[in-house]
Amino acid sequence: MIYNKIINQEHAKRAVEIALSGNHSIKFIGNDEAEQLKQACDELNIKTIAVKSCRCGNLNDQERDCLCRLFEIKNHQRGKKYRTPTDLTIEVLRVTPAAYLKYERGKKQESVNEVKKRVKKAKKNKVAEKITDEQTLQLLEIALKQLHLSLNQINSLKRVAQTIAKLDSSFEIKVRHLAEALQYRQRN
Ligand SMILES: [Zn+2]
Repeated sequence: MIYNKIINQEHAKRAVEIALSGNHSIKFIGNDEAEQLKQACDELNIKTIAVKSCRCGNLNDQERDCLCRLFEIKNHQRGKKYRTPTDLTIEVLRVTPAAYLKYERGKKQESVNEVKKRVKKAKKNKVAEKITDEQTLQLLEIALKQLHLSLNQINSLKRVAQTIAKLDSSFEIKVRHLAEALQYRQRN
């Protein structure tokens, strides 16, 4: 399994787990690492897109310079692939030398089978359809006012929050679940 060969990328792996638990689609924005994550998701039958952050792919890279001009970045980010709506969007950073060495020195990474066990358990959990928790409602209100989401985007956000609640064995969407779901929205 390609998943077992992915080094670090904990943020992206968490998104893969959520996608598997709730049949969500994912977009990975980045270079080779994004492609590798896409291949891992293909093996797990998750609807996935991998797209570069800009034409050269180095936008937001801490160690390499982006060679694109501003209009090229804008054009790229207006592209069909970049704009395809998905439930989860993850900006995947390159594996830095420090991250690679951490992997070599660190303990064994979690295998996909361990993830699948949690997913199986999460799928059996039930989460209330309506949000009744007052703190969650307050965060939702702030998000709706600031982000100008379409109804489709609101539904997608809520479905992701529900899946996160299931993974947490919670009967309802708590503020931490919604806060995490908000992290997976595409920012530009
Ligand atoms: Zn670039």
